[in-house]
Amino acid sequence: MSRKYLIAGNWKMNPAPLVLRRDMPHSPYHPRPDVDVVVFPTFLDLQSCIDAKILCGPQFGHTEEHGAHTGDISLKMCKNLGCLYTLCGHSERRADHGETSEDVAAQAIAALELQMHPVVCVGETEEERDAGKEKEVVQAQIAVLPLESDITIAYEPVWAIGTGKTASPEQAQEMHAYIRSLLPEDRQEQTRILYGGSMKPNNAQELLSQSDIDGGLIGGASLQSDQFGEIVEIASKLSE
Ligand code: PEP
Repeated sequence: MSRKYLIAGNWKMNPAPLVLRRDMPHSPYHPRPDVDVVVFPTFLDLQSCIDAKILCGPQFGHTEEHGAHTGDISLKMCKNLGCLYTLCGHSERRADHGETSEDVAAQAIAALELQMHPVVCVGETEEERDAGKEKEVVQAQIAVLPLESDITIAYEPVWAIGTGKTASPEQAQEMHAYIRSLLPEDRQEQTRILYGGSMKPNNAQELLSQSDIDGGLIGGASLQSDQFGEIVEIASKLSE
């Protein structure tokens, strides 16, 4: 496979893992040559990650540079800090903050304009899957994105996030192949599509072995440096 694996940690609203608070120069979160590793900490921990030379980005960034948006932080401010990535449209942002697919696309476009790399989350709820609408839902979320640009898509079935229920490798591969088929032809080979939803060391090998799964967006297990490290090592071995 020509695509390099990307293993990304979403720390959500949690303190940075202990290894970083202990100021270690090397950790599973640090960049390495064979696998791209990125973390999405809270705004409060972005600076420490940058100081530790860890590739990172915000979990959300406002599209305007500055202004009357109490409580928000802009993508531009994060870029000025040194962030090269941003997460866009995580299902918890869509649910908790009413972000629509159009809002998410606007964030991705604003990030690209700032030369930040957007990792855009899509995925269906359990009800939508039970109703057989998972492809329709994901297609609508994908359709508005700047697909001709260098973005990463994270397929995260909402029913698998933080629940311990993982999509089977076959379910994930089927959706990833479908997402790839929605990309412009000249982007299909390079665009990375990550899987997210209870990825752990014990299921990472099977998921990451699927031909259209190019990495993982990892929540819970990314807060445990040993578990995150194991997943990075699995991706590394698969890249050999
Ligand atoms: C996530 O937050 O994006 C996620 C996939 O979480 P978890 O790995 O805990 O399911």
